[in-house]
Amino acid sequence: MASGGANYRNGTQRNSLKGTTTATDRQLSMNSNPSKAALKNKSLSSVGASSGLRKSSPGSLGGGTAKDDAGVPGRVRVAVRLRPRNAEESVADADFADCVELQPEFKRLKLRKNNWDTDTYEFDEVLTEFASQKRVYEVVAKPVVESVLDGYNGTVMAYGQTGTGKTYTLGRLGEEDTADRGIIVRAMEDILAGVSLESDSVSVSYLQLYMESLQDLLDPTNDNISIVEDPKSGDVSLPGATLVEIRDQQSFLELLQLGEAHRYAANTRLNTESSRSHALLMVHVKRSVKGRELAHSSQNGNSTNIAKSLRPTLVRKGKLVVVDLAGSERIDKSGSEGHTLEEAKSINLSLIALGKCINALAENSAHVPVRDSKLTRLLRDSFGGTARTSLVITIGPSPRHRGETTSTIMFGQRAMKVENMLKLKEEFDYKSLARKLDIQLDKLIMEHERKQKAFEEEIERITTDTQNQISEAERNYADAMEKERLKYQKDYMESIKKLEEKWMMNQHKLGERKDQMASTAQEVAELKKLLSKETSLRKAAEEEINNLKSQLAQLKMSEASANSESLKLRKMLEDEAYRKEKLEGEISMLQTQLLQLSFEADETRRRLDRGGPGKVPGDLDSLISQVRPQVNDSVNEEKASIANLFEQVGLQKILSLLEAEDADVRIHAVKVVANLAAEESNQQKIVEAGGLTSLLLLLGSSEDETIHRVAAGAIANLAMNETNQELIMSEGGIRLLSITAANAEDPQTLRMVAGAIANLCGNDKLQNKLRGEGGIKALLGMVKCGHPDVLAQVARGIANFAKCESRASAQGSKTGRSLLIEDGALPWIVQNANNDASPIRRHIELAVCHLAQHEVNARDMITGGALWELVRISQDCSREDIRTLAHRTLTSSPTFLAELRRLRIDY
Ligand code: ADP
Ligand code: MG
Repeated sequence: MASGGANYRNGTQRNSLKGTTTATDRQLSMNSNPSKAALKNKSLSSVGASSGLRKSSPGSLGGGTAKDDAGVPGRVRVAVRLRPRNAEESVADADFADCVELQPEFKRLKLRKNNWDTDTYEFDEVLTEFASQKRVYEVVAKPVVESVLDGYNGTVMAYGQTGTGKTYTLGRLGEEDTADRGIIVRAMEDILAGVSLESDSVSVSYLQLYMESLQDLLDPTNDNISIVEDPKSGDVSLPGATLVEIRDQQSFLELLQLGEAHRYAANTRLNTESSRSHALLMVHVKRSVKGRELAHSSQNGNSTNIAKSLRPTLVRKGKLVVVDLAGSERIDKSGSEGHTLEEAKSINLSLIALGKCINALAENSAHVPVRDSKLTRLLRDSFGGTARTSLVITIGPSPRHRGETTSTIMFGQRAMKVENMLKLKEEFDYKSLARKLDIQLDKLIMEHERKQKAFEEEIERITTDTQNQISEAERNYADAMEKERLKYQKDYMESIKKLEEKWMMNQHKLGERKDQMASTAQEVAELKKLLSKETSLRKAAEEEINNLKSQLAQLKMSEASANSESLKLRKMLEDEAYRKEKLEGEISMLQTQLLQLSFEADETRRRLDRGGPGKVPGDLDSLISQVRPQVNDSVNEEKASIANLFEQVGLQKILSLLEAEDADVRIHAVKVVANLAAEESNQQKIVEAGGLTSLLLLLGSSEDETIHRVAAGAIANLAMNETNQELIMSEGGIRLLSITAANAEDPQTLRMVAGAIANLCGNDKLQNKLRGEGGIKALLGMVKCGHPDVLAQVARGIANFAKCESRASAQGSKTGRSLLIEDGALPWIVQNANNDASPIRRHIELAVCHLAQHEVNARDMITGGALWELVRISQDCSREDIRTLAHRTLTSSPTFLAELRRLRIDY
């Protein structure tokens, strides 16, 4: 809002210049930088105040609202540049002085009105004809360029009459002489040096405004560009203009040349001069503010990387507008240059409008006619807006153009009064953040997809691998199973085959065995039949013999009467006897054959037994036992037959069989021998043939209990003879019998052994030897079996021994205690003296009586309890002779009597 109240007194006060020129005025430098100005906000204001300059309210060209909230006051800076005289002027004006006189040290310009009158004007900078392009840039444009880099809009504009050096000042490329480079080239150099090509951007539009038509110098076909204004911010944009991004100085120069060429072509086409058109270069500078600035904004400093990456970039957008205006001289309304009036109006329109706006702003007019022209619309931010604006007004020295020069100076003076409010164009770049995030998101999506794919492939690979492994394992398993199955099948088949073979063999053997058995059984049956036939024949013969005998007796009795008959009968008898003898011989033959067959059958059975398992039917043992009873049971009848049999078979042969390898043969042989030995008549023959020795040997060598039993029985039988007894003793019989007894389990074996020893006990001569070789102890050892038969034999042996001892004592050949007592037999004697079994009791009673007969045994008998037995025997014994013996013994022993007396037993 224009504050009309302030009375700004500008430098047009011609005659009071010195009064208005203060030290502080001089401080108003073109170099004042907006960023510095921002920092020196107050001092600038105070400078403004102390300078007496009106602190104008920042009314914009658009007459818009005052933006005093964030803006920094920034007056339009104006420099004046004097062009040196050109050749023509040097000649034409040779006689005239320049119309202007510059006092650059005071930043003053003196305009000579005539020879005596001058007007003095102050400017922000006064640049003489000698000012270098570099200095002009630094004074006029550099501060603006720096502001643009800092995010402000900036304007550098040249105003002046055609030919005064606007284009020279702004647009020289300096291709021939680098010192000639104008503001545009130098500005771009500084801009490019001040931005980062990675994060920042510089782009350029280049336009020409002619007759209110805006043409794109970078795209000549684009010749009617519209201006778009943002109603809110008031920002002006040209969406239709070509915007070229600048990356380096060279491409920018080329772009400028291209633009110049297009401008030239356009002007030729339009039949105009460049001085009649306005050239506008727009440089958009977009800078990201990071690092230092952001660190500053992140005060607590705990922002994470993610937060940082999500924070939008702060972007500062500065726009530099460089305007090379059309010549400020008025186009002759007469149209001397070939323009119609309308054309002239149109050509001047923008410049006139600009002048009007500047005037309005300078005078704080309520209305600023911005919308009157395209130029003013384009420059609305440059004058009274937010931009930092530098204006260079160019003038010539020629007095001939004093009018134009004056008007230019006046324009500059008015422009100096325009106050802008510089505003930082700073915003967060949400778009680029969104773009960045989009890119990041896309990257993440891609990455995710890649990973997902890789993951799926990995899964698939693992699955395939696993499946392969499983099928491999299954295959292996199946193979192994098949192999194993085949192996077992093979083994099974082989086993079956072997079993079949074995079975076949067994069948075969069985068949053979059956055949053998059958034939043997048949033979035996036939023999049996034969035998029974022979037996009945023999019986018949015997009966016949008996008959004949009785007939013979009768005949003998009636011998006298029948002598002739007797002879006849005798003859018959002799015949019969002969026949009988013959038959008996046959029987003996048969029996021998039978015995032989028995052995052979034994042999066969053994062979078969060795050949395999299974019981041979028709046990040969039973055959033998069938045969033997016939031999044994009819002892009396058969004695002769057996004698014959064993004569025919031969005792030696039988005895030799005692040493046969086969146990069964030995058993049968020993049985046969035992049977023979049971016959007293055979005993001597057996002993003579070495039978007793063989039997004793058999006791020692065999481990078979049956053999032991039978052999011991045979020995016992043979031991009844005194000579044999001595033989048995001399051959170590006691020892062998003792061992046999110790190993025996069968009581009958013990009975036989005990019987044999008992027989030996009855031999007077052998008493000491028998006892010395442990005979008594062996006897006593057998009592533990408890079998009455055994006990009876033991008792008999003890009785025998006692009787012999008693006899020897009586004869005086024996002194001292009974050997029975010595060997500890007394307790058993006492214990069994009254045994229920009479054979035992009888023997013991006898033994007690024998022992008691000798005083030397009395004491032991008393202590051993035998006295009572003796008393009992003397009273209770069933046999009278023993009773008497006992009684006599008792009464004849002083020791017993003393004892009885001591015990007060009245006997
Ligand atoms: P304008 O653009 O204002 O019409 P030009 O820049 O075209 O003027 O200048 C006109 C002539 O004056 C040109 O030949 C130019 O080289 C010359 N000229 C302008 N200013 C200077 C200067 N400061 N020093 C030397 N020659 C200059
Ligand atoms: Mg020019």
